[in-house]
Amino acid sequence: MKLLHSGKVRDLYTDGDDLIMVASDRVSIYDVVLPTPIPDKGSVLTRLSLWWFDRLADIVAHHVISGTDVPAEFAGRAVRCRRLEMLPVECIARGYLAGLGLEEYRKQGTVSGVPLPDGLVEGSKLPEPIFTPTTKAPVGEHDEFMTFDDVVAAVGADTAARLRELTLAVYTRGAETAATSGIIVADTKLEFGVDVDGGIVLADEVLTPDSSRFWPADAWEPGRPQFAFDKQFLREWSQGLDWDRTPPGPEIPAAVVAATRARYVEAYERITGRDW
Ligand code: ATP
Ligand code: MG
Repeated sequence: MKLLHSGKVRDLYTDGDDLIMVASDRVSIYDVVLPTPIPDKGSVLTRLSLWWFDRLADIVAHHVISGTDVPAEFAGRAVRCRRLEMLPVECIARGYLAGLGLEEYRKQGTVSGVPLPDGLVEGSKLPEPIFTPTTKAPVGEHDEFMTFDDVVAAVGADTAARLRELTLAVYTRGAETAATSGIIVADTKLEFGVDVDGGIVLADEVLTPDSSRFWPADAWEPGRPQFAFDKQFLREWSQGLDWDRTPPGPEIPAAVVAATRARYVEAYERITGRDW
């Protein structure tokens, strides 16, 4: 196997024509990888993605070849997948207002150029899910919102329309499925690639706590930050530090590591109904 790319969280190896995508226990906030790993995070993300890819297969083709045919040293946190030509768009669907979406709304009443009604607050449910794509920024830079026209310019009108349609369909299925376990999917980020036949294929990870905001439905209350089964806890911890959000990131104290791990595991258990 040859190391092809080492991302913030995952390492990609080639194995013949296939890719082996290995999820590490690394965690990044504000696009900076922190020096302290979160135990089991890589396996949680891998196993949850595999669970979802299966349940989305009637909506969109996915890149997974096998979750088990991987080198023993990576077992449980790696997938064998098809190597795709990735599209240069982070496909985000939002059903609720949070994060960067909230920031843009507060400034100008839109998200990714999509106008929203007045009077929404942090955590508000949107009238309907919206497609709010961003760029895929190179290492060290932050993603930026793209309007739908920007997506058309980047990938062409047909592909842009298909990306929007697939992103909203995956979000809607994901949100409906998670709702049965009392979880709100506030937003989620998808990545698509193109296969050798020109087909659009869902890649990367899907509906995980790293790519989505998951909120417990019984604690949801618009107008304040929401309790979240994801990195939000780490972001809030980091806001109390004297850190300017550039590398190197701060060491995470043991209690914060344990609480973060517990949130990832709880997301997995609640969504899949399986014990970790
Ligand atoms: P970067 O790669 O810019 O650091 P990142 O931190 O999001 O971004 P990771 O998520 O750690 O990167 O690594 C996953 C990488 O693998 C992403 O660049 C993603 O686009 C790419 N990828 C995922 N699935 C496939 C696939 N089937 N074929 C090719 N590339 C893929
Ligand atoms: Mg990524």
